[in-house]
Amino acid sequence: MRYQSTRGVDHSYTFTETVFEGLAPDGGLIVPETIPRLSGETIEAWSKLDYLSLALEIFKLFATDIPTEALRDIIKKSYSSFRHEEITPVVKVGDLYILELFHGPTFAFKDIALQFLGNLFEYLLSKTGKKINILGATSGDTGASAIYAVRGKQGIAIFILYPHQRVSPIQALMMTTVIEPNVHNIAIEGSFDDCQKIVKDLFMDLPLKRSYGLTAINSINFARILAQIVYYFYAYFKVSKIESKREVRFAVPTGNFGDIFAGYLAKRMLGRGIERLILATNENDILARFVNYGDYSVGQVIPTISPAMDIQVASNFERYLYYLFGEDTEKTALAMREFQEKKRLSFTKEDLISVKKDFLARSVTQEETLETIRDFYHKNGYMLDPHTAVGVKAGLTFKEEGIPLICLSTAHPAKFPETVSKAIGKDFPLPPEIEALKNKPQGFHILKANIEEVKTYLQKNALT
Ligand SMILES: *Cc1c(COP(=O)(O)O)cnc(C)c1O
Repeated sequence: MRYQSTRGVDHSYTFTETVFEGLAPDGGLIVPETIPRLSGETIEAWSKLDYLSLALEIFKLFATDIPTEALRDIIKKSYSSFRHEEITPVVKVGDLYILELFHGPTFAFKDIALQFLGNLFEYLLSKTGKKINILGATSGDTGASAIYAVRGKQGIAIFILYPHQRVSPIQALMMTTVIEPNVHNIAIEGSFDDCQKIVKDLFMDLPLKRSYGLTAINSINFARILAQIVYYFYAYFKVSKIESKREVRFAVPTGNFGDIFAGYLAKRMLGRGIERLILATNENDILARFVNYGDYSVGQVIPTISPAMDIQVASNFERYLYYLFGEDTEKTALAMREFQEKKRLSFTKEDLISVKKDFLARSVTQEETLETIRDFYHKNGYMLDPHTAVGVKAGLTFKEEGIPLICLSTAHPAKFPETVSKAIGKDFPLPPEIEALKNKPQGFHILKANIEEVKTYLQKNALT
């Protein structure tokens, strides 16, 4: 399998190059040259596999330049850190299914992709003896997941910037209690926007980027998407068997369009099986407006109780656009240039008809989110985190007789205890792993919101 940019076909990449490249030099995102379409026999055979074997079959199709044995080891290592033997169990709650994606080390679904990416990086670096320094900004989940993905790994150091005293206490603890020589928690005296700006500017410093092998770990990395395809298959096979149905719907709480794009790829690979994907947003509703009205225009970011979805410009959206435009790279490049200028895109009726074959969408208010957590708990005794609740609300809105509904649960409720307690009207015990963090020593460095300070720190501590 070769890969190419969504904005041009002049250059093709191997899977390994794709993993390290991030963005293509023309500013496009990297996509596989073809999406494999599975035969009936393959689907039948895959339906009997456990999670790890299924992951191996899927990765073999996309990571064709990595030996199967190595892939098998990477997969085994990545998912041995999960607390559940099924990795992503599917549980029936009331009349829908919850796909629990939060059994990884940081209780968030990002672990599924990042545990894999961390081990993949380590393997690929061990082949070349190269070293990388991962640099990122976080307001929550990604930082902790990324740190747990690379802690103690050879050839990799990680520098995570977060706003000092402005991330939730549990999220801060998850990062700062990892004390390893290759992990650098940097608390910036400023806002999340300051952190992001510093990271962006450091990446623009090309000599710095090159000499330190600065690497991003954000959700545009295709290896992250790849790892997320697996659980769509896994849940589809389970639920279609239980319900004796050939088609299911998935409800996906969406921010950067990474998770749901993996669902789109799974849908294409299966042919028939995923009837539609339900795209759920919070009040930051640009993607819901796109699906419902063909209106993709940027608004102000509204801070909500599902903060991992407080996003206006969805970084993976361009990948879907490329497929919507029939893999026309020129049209995609043109549209993205227009978007850059006008901060909006509009679509034709025909475009909208194709979009609606793949997606249903709804934006969910914070009020509705709290209500959903409360009702779901009182009815079923099951606690939803606020992100999952957004997905459940949208899922229930479009629930149809005869089509099983699978709602992706992207975080454990204990990651957002204040919101969940408020909704259900009482406190609840946290898992012992999270409780234990409170007594662990913490390590972090406080720096000013100043690019020179961060650069100096980086130069002093980076692997070379
Ligand atoms: C990142 C995240 C999301 C959004 O996923 P995208 O791939 O950005 O759409 C949803 N819920 C939680 C808890 C997250 O951390």
